[in-house]
Amino acid sequence: MTKPQNIAQFFKQFPDDETCLNHLFETRFGQGYECPSCERASNWYRIKAERAYSCQWCGHHLHPTVGTPFEKSRTSLQLWFYAIYMFTTTRNGVAAKELQRQLGVTYKTAWRMAGLIREHMADVDGDGSLGGAWEAVEIDETYVGGIRKGGKRGRGADGKTVILGMMDADEVVTKVVANVRRDTLLPHINATVAKGSLVNTDELKSYNSLPDHGYRHITVNHGAGQYVGKFGATVNGMEGFWSQLKRSINGTHIHVSGKHLWKYAKEAEYRFNRRHRPETMFSELVSTFQPSSPK
Ligand SMILES: [Zn+2]
Repeated sequence: MTKPQNIAQFFKQFPDDETCLNHLFETRFGQGYECPSCERASNWYRIKAERAYSCQWCGHHLHPTVGTPFEKSRTSLQLWFYAIYMFTTTRNGVAAKELQRQLGVTYKTAWRMAGLIREHMADVDGDGSLGGAWEAVEIDETYVGGIRKGGKRGRGADGKTVILGMMDADEVVTKVVANVRRDTLLPHINATVAKGSLVNTDELKSYNSLPDHGYRHITVNHGAGQYVGKFGATVNGMEGFWSQLKRSINGTHIHVSGKHLWKYAKEAEYRFNRRHRPETMFSELVSTFQPSSPK
């Protein structure tokens, strides 16, 4: 496994804002990119007055930050890249307070940046499909939040947010859901898990109809103290993922509201899905963006 980039390498690769902007231009467009306005292959010239490049033929502008998390931000690109670098060199995530301290921005800015970086991780990770004929897929649900740090309950058990998790040998997919009822969970399972998969769950009744939907289904009875059930049924992989997610939320963040919880789940998901190649995370996150709508 290659080592993740260290801090000296980071500053060597991105010594200033200009280098960051050029990196975005090169990865999203590049010289010779066909102008969306005059439709000719163009050399693109940097417009110094704004974060833009101009077509050699018609003067049309390309803005490499449009459609990225940096689009509407006045924070420098280098600080953004550094914040992303921080997210890729930690196991438990980065608290807004820590971003504030290291970047020298306000807490509000740091908090907003962290949220946008998590959303970006979610976009880049996407939602793959899991399983396949006889492939084991673990499905489990967990409750997060509802208790404020200091032990006082926020809104009691009702304040908790439910997350559904699905995991095959390679990958995990999470969904924040309204409740654990069958009609709530099944559409997500149908959309994510391939038919014929060997689905492992606990004994929550909502999963009972899985065989009616083309799945093979085995269960582990946690109520009876089991970790491994009949035919080797287990959701230990998902349990491990939940512990990591909760460690990250409880250890790094003071309180996460239900509204934002999906981003923390996606951040953990992004990291988990690259656990065998963490050194690729930084490069991927500064080079992968939604298809740009050229302006
Ligand atoms: Zn043009």
